[in-house]
Amino acid sequence: MPVETIDTLVIGAGQAGVAMSEHLGREGVPHIVLEKSRIAERWRTGRWDSLVANGPAWHDRFPGLEFDGDGEAFPAKDEMADYFERYAAKFGAPIRCGVEATRVQRLEGRSGFRVETSAGVIEARNVVSATGPFQTPVIPHVVPQDAPVTQLHSADYRNPEQLPEGAVLVVGAGSSGAQIADELNRAGRKVYLSVGPHGRPPRTYRGRDYCWWLGVLGLWDIPAPAPGTEHVTIAVSGAQGGRTVEFRQLAAEGITLVGRTESYADGRLSFEDDLARNIRRGDTDYLAMLDQADAYVTRNGLDLPEEPEARQMLPDPDCMIDPLRELDLDEAGVKTILWATGYALDYGWLDLDVLDENGRPQHERGVSPERGFYFLGLPWLSRRGSSFIWGVWHDARYIADQIVIQRSYSTYDDEARRATTARAAE
Ligand SMILES: Cc1cc2nc3c(=O)[nH]c(=O)nc-3n(C[C@H](O)[C@H](O)[C@H](O)COP(=O)(O)OP(=O)(O)OC[C@H]3O[C@@H](n4cnc5c(N)ncnc54)[C@H](O)[C@@H]3O)c2cc1C
Repeated sequence: MPVETIDTLVIGAGQAGVAMSEHLGREGVPHIVLEKSRIAERWRTGRWDSLVANGPAWHDRFPGLEFDGDGEAFPAKDEMADYFERYAAKFGAPIRCGVEATRVQRLEGRSGFRVETSAGVIEARNVVSATGPFQTPVIPHVVPQDAPVTQLHSADYRNPEQLPEGAVLVVGAGSSGAQIADELNRAGRKVYLSVGPHGRPPRTYRGRDYCWWLGVLGLWDIPAPAPGTEHVTIAVSGAQGGRTVEFRQLAAEGITLVGRTESYADGRLSFEDDLARNIRRGDTDYLAMLDQADAYVTRNGLDLPEEPEARQMLPDPDCMIDPLRELDLDEAGVKTILWATGYALDYGWLDLDVLDENGRPQHERGVSPERGFYFLGLPWLSRRGSSFIWGVWHDARYIADQIVIQRSYSTYDDEARRATTARAAE
């Protein structure tokens, strides 16, 4: 089979690949985007049925296209996938669906890469990896696989009916865990929710969505997590029209909160004694944002309605005052453990020296140490917003710039330049 050549090859056509293609197209860089499934496949089939975007439609989008309908609404997951399909169609993104990149290697003795794909070999001067920030579901090794309880990851959860009858322990209280626990509780399940350290911004404050507040306060743009908050998940939700995640409220609605899941033996799970600490830390994060918002309103003389009630917390629930430290799964009727414990990256296809000893991508704002190879869409690639919809669009622009800069060097032609200079001197 003949080898195809292209200037830039983008791997993955989620939102990151679509954004990359838009910027490359604008700069006139010949490129192809490979997608092993369909455009925005993870929005379509990699999420639970009722998922809506965590940000309102006016915010969780690219600059070049608005969602149809109410900008304050939270688009459903399939609307998100449709949106990215429409976006790609709008500028004729050269996306090849159903083609998987299986190996990327440096070309010997010349610049560029050899990319093996499920549809043949492509040689490219540049390669952009846009394969996603959340790829392989991670389940911590706490409960053995053969324990008499169904275990699944939030990536495989679809709806309450999918789970065996009985109570559910949801482990992890970031956006996924908090939303799934709430959904199961509303569906009449007995739910235990294991809450670790988290941030929980207000859904709205003084009439503005938290996405707006993060924007005006410059918090989407911070280049690195604040010290001590590197692994803290954010609990935010657009479900039910968008509500602040308030764990005391979830407890008042029937969910039993427990601390971090620690260990398992003989059908009993034990939890750390950190529930109250984790919830109070979330409160601190929440209140700090209200303080920053108030200061911003005062400094800028904005006319936004005061909202003192946002500072009132519900009383601590019993499960927080006297938390369960152990749970006998059988006695409690727990038939399912749902792990909302995050994802790892998978670069099994990458045969380049661009990962560190822990398999983490090495890069500076997406520019890897291997000339011509770029990462896009990773958490904190350049800023807090990097793995989110609006942020990845801006990172893609930066990477397109870097590609264009290198293209201008590589097309430098000293003969032509000398001839031009000589003509000018005549
Ligand atoms: C539950 C959940 C809810 C989220 N909600 C929001 C939200 O509301 N707002 C927001 O801004 N962000 C949200 N995010 C974060 C982020 O926007 C999504 O994770 C988004 O899918 C990331 O887009 P991406 O293009 O970087 O990666 P992905 O969507 O993961 O796309 C990567 C693509 O690459 C393809 N691919 C992978 N490997 C190969 C290969 N070797 N060859 C060819 N193709 C390949 C995959 O099939 C996939 O289509 C959410 C994340 C999760 C997990």
